[in-house]
Amino acid sequence: MADMKGYNGKIGIIDLTTGTVTGKDLDPLVAEKYIGGAGLAAKLVHDMLREGDYATLRQDPLHGSNPLVFATGPLTSSPAPSSSRYAVCGISPLTGIWGEATSGGHFPAAMKRCGFDALVITGKAAKPSYIIAASGKLEVKDAGSIWGKHCYDTIAAIKTDLADDAVRVACIGKAGEMLVKYAAVINDEGRAAGRCGMGTVMGSKNLKAIAVKGGSEIKYADRETLASVAKETLKNIHGNFAIQFMHHYGTALYTDMGMVLGDVPAKYFTTSEFIAEGLTGRALKEQYPVKNYGCAGCTIQCGRTTWATIGKQETVVEGPEYETIAAFGPLCGILDLPPVVECNHVANLAGVDTISSGVSIAFLLYLVDQKLATSKITPLLKNMGIDDLRWGNNKVVIELLRQIIERQGIGNLLAEGTRAMAKELGVDPGLAAHVKGLEIPMHDPRAYAGQALTYMVSCCGANHNKADFFNLDGDAATLMKVKKGDRFSIAGREESVINAQDIASIYDSAVICNFPHLNVIPMARMIKAATGSAVLGTAAGLLKAGERGTTVKRLISCKLGVTAKDDVLPAIVTRVLATGGTAGRKLDLDGSRAAYYEKRGWSSDGVPTEAKVRDLEI
Ligand code: SF4
Repeated sequence: MADMKGYNGKIGIIDLTTGTVTGKDLDPLVAEKYIGGAGLAAKLVHDMLREGDYATLRQDPLHGSNPLVFATGPLTSSPAPSSSRYAVCGISPLTGIWGEATSGGHFPAAMKRCGFDALVITGKAAKPSYIIAASGKLEVKDAGSIWGKHCYDTIAAIKTDLADDAVRVACIGKAGEMLVKYAAVINDEGRAAGRCGMGTVMGSKNLKAIAVKGGSEIKYADRETLASVAKETLKNIHGNFAIQFMHHYGTALYTDMGMVLGDVPAKYFTTSEFIAEGLTGRALKEQYPVKNYGCAGCTIQCGRTTWATIGKQETVVEGPEYETIAAFGPLCGILDLPPVVECNHVANLAGVDTISSGVSIAFLLYLVDQKLATSKITPLLKNMGIDDLRWGNNKVVIELLRQIIERQGIGNLLAEGTRAMAKELGVDPGLAAHVKGLEIPMHDPRAYAGQALTYMVSCCGANHNKADFFNLDGDAATLMKVKKGDRFSIAGREESVINAQDIASIYDSAVICNFPHLNVIPMARMIKAATGSAVLGTAAGLLKAGERGTTVKRLISCKLGVTAKDDVLPAIVTRVLATGGTAGRKLDLDGSRAAYYEKRGWSSDGVPTEAKVRDLEI
């Protein structure tokens, strides 16, 4: 095994078809070029897939040749702030292109010390299975008795099966088993790697869970410097007012603030005005017993553990987080917390992305409200216990979520996502709120032109964390390299989107949480102290690694068919709204997209040029 600082130096390879487990050394040059996490995963996938694989995956992203990669990075669970985070990546069954998601909690800290930097999983198990990775060893185990259990019971059952309470588990629930296209991977107490359907890929492989156990020692090049830069950085983080808000009110603090800015979509992106008081972090605090939740070692503790009565049962639930509140709340016309808390809990038990499911439900409500596709929708609702489909009908929204998870009735269609819904129902594709198949998150593109451009050109579709331009233009961040300007225009500032994306790419490769918005310079100092790499120890070197990550993901997506025609926003989110924080504002981004391509070194069709690929030494 390579003696590498900041890494285990080893990659685990699991072929579920044959049940064989092997390992290989992590190439130090690859680590220096791609850092780790999502960047490393993209490089591994890029090198694994042959032309024939791309052709197969274009037809069927759930084919066994889809490599699923779990990965940590050199800063994961290091002294760096907010660093218990991992990435899970592969080809998305929802979008058909590169897909990735990250999650925090305690699983990443254990994975970091399980003896592997990445687990590469291919093939399909003949029967339900789970993988245990501990002390540099891998084993595929039978999950027959666990299949069918919800996520929290799965985690408990695996701990019992291994007779070890110290293992940490990332798993799928019913949604992953039923191949809902946007199934999530859930770890610990409801932390979700939610986007792009990575849980669906697990389900397609008959893979119920990954269990990891820490114990392996990680050596750092300069632990003292790493600890001192981390301490200094932490002081700055806690001096940031947005972080203090997040600590006290969780991410839900954004509901009313974002509504004022026109950033919180309501009634399926048709308005941005609604009564937000019942959905804020303060409302959560007043209506429920809550306590702060933090990922391992994080002092921000933006998460929430909430005690709620669901049905007649008192239950401990995670969150809900802002994205979930907005997706099941105003987007569906719901303006109070109890139904949102219930939807969140149902989604976490079953392991389903709350953004894609909320948007898919809201799309159906919109179509019914507009009396569109009635002849196709009505038969799908027959005998399914769903009537009175209208904005704000709590019971219907919860029931639709359950039917998505079970793929029952109309839920079977909603489980395919909005792009497929529009196609199947024969409605204008511009009404489906997605980019490249990934549902648009709860930040309205009309509120921040930079966010709109980010959604359009992102490597994996509409994702608010790649990068979170609404934060950067909203002045809540201390991030460098974002040129300030009018939030309704990105013209002339396209380079800011590029920088923000590449910095997000560094976060997802390092792997650390994006909420503290760590500046590039302290990040470079910490990565150098962790790994000893002089290249990654400069802002320029680190940004280049971030760009390399962004570019290799784009290359994979281009090989799966992405071109400039896919880098567009649907009409439903570009219509000018008459009221609210974006009233009268028209998004016009055609020129910005072309400028973005040019500055990126991509062709006019959105493909990284050979010169760019050479320059980045991909
Ligand atoms: S800021 Fe929140 S999500 Fe990020 S590491 Fe801390 S607790 Fe986890």
